[in-house]
Amino acid sequence: MKPLEKLLRPNIRDLKPYSSARDEYSGEAAVFLDANENPFNAPYNRYPDPYQRELKKRIASLKKTKPENTFLGNGSDEAIDVAIRAFCEPGVDNIVSISPTYGMYQVAADINNIEVRKVLLKPDFELDPDALLREADEHTKIIFLCSPNNPTGNCFKEEGIRKVLEGFQGIVVLDEAYIDFAPEKSWLPKLEDYPNLIILQTFSKAWGMAGIRLGMGFASTQIINVFSKIKYPYNVNILTQKKALNLLNESQDMEQWVENLLTERARLTKALNQCKFVNKIYPTDANFILLKADAPRDIYNYLVGNKIIIRDRSNVALCEGCLRITVGTQEENKKLLAALEGYQNRINKA
Ligand SMILES: *Cc1c(COP(=O)(O)O)cnc(C)c1O
Repeated sequence: MKPLEKLLRPNIRDLKPYSSARDEYSGEAAVFLDANENPFNAPYNRYPDPYQRELKKRIASLKKTKPENTFLGNGSDEAIDVAIRAFCEPGVDNIVSISPTYGMYQVAADINNIEVRKVLLKPDFELDPDALLREADEHTKIIFLCSPNNPTGNCFKEEGIRKVLEGFQGIVVLDEAYIDFAPEKSWLPKLEDYPNLIILQTFSKAWGMAGIRLGMGFASTQIINVFSKIKYPYNVNILTQKKALNLLNESQDMEQWVENLLTERARLTKALNQCKFVNKIYPTDANFILLKADAPRDIYNYLVGNKIIIRDRSNVALCEGCLRITVGTQEENKKLLAALEGYQNRINKA
């Protein structure tokens, strides 16, 4: 890895962060007259902890890492944006990304005027580390990986990810949004071996907290310090911090949801396999199923007509003819299957 000072944008490297009232004094006090807050309407009258100390401590202990290696943001989408803004000089630097993958890397790069160099996955959706490394040049600051990948659903082999981490001189962002559903282990325990690794996880999927907007980034202390410097001081609001702390104390709920969804996923896969218009169901390590179908747009529209919304991915690279279906509750999945039976009957009649 190149030295961090070389990878960072010079203005970010030299940035003196905003110092909030709560930065200057963060201890317990009886009277706070430092932040121009309203003294009424407690506890919402107070600014939240800009460093999310209590929540970070809790998350770090759950994840067996340290608060100093943890960034919390308004969804992991914030961490994606912060990473790009920290390292990539607009109009000069670029990122390398796999294709197909999560759309936010491209959007965040476009907003920041950063070129995205896309490298197709292999036809079996496996990583092509050599192709990724070939695509990188001296202006490539970040390679974005996503495992399990969205929308393909698969985890990449450990060896491929390692090759990218070891062969690339810049930053590797590994998005593990779906890791709680996967049989593969997170890369988090290996964080110390790879100073160029940033791991993203989220409370939006397995934790069932998409609505409170809370994402995690794990990286070296040096990188986390830079992220903390760039983020809005109060990027995770007080309601989110409190709600997350409550839900984290009930982590057995999350484990049960995951178990339930994996059972449902198997059931749904089996049933979808019986559908004549389904040509292929791809193996998945996530809470969604990618399948190849005849007339995907027709199926999509038919389901919309039945008030069931799935994702049409048929225009996405390597996903021609593909639909992506999130695994729902047993009842929701039954509704989906009943609607698909209706679709099949309609074809039979036509
Ligand atoms: C859903 C998803 C996220 C989650 O983003 P949040 O901003 O944390 O809600 C991140 N990465 C991928 C690949 C996703 O599919």
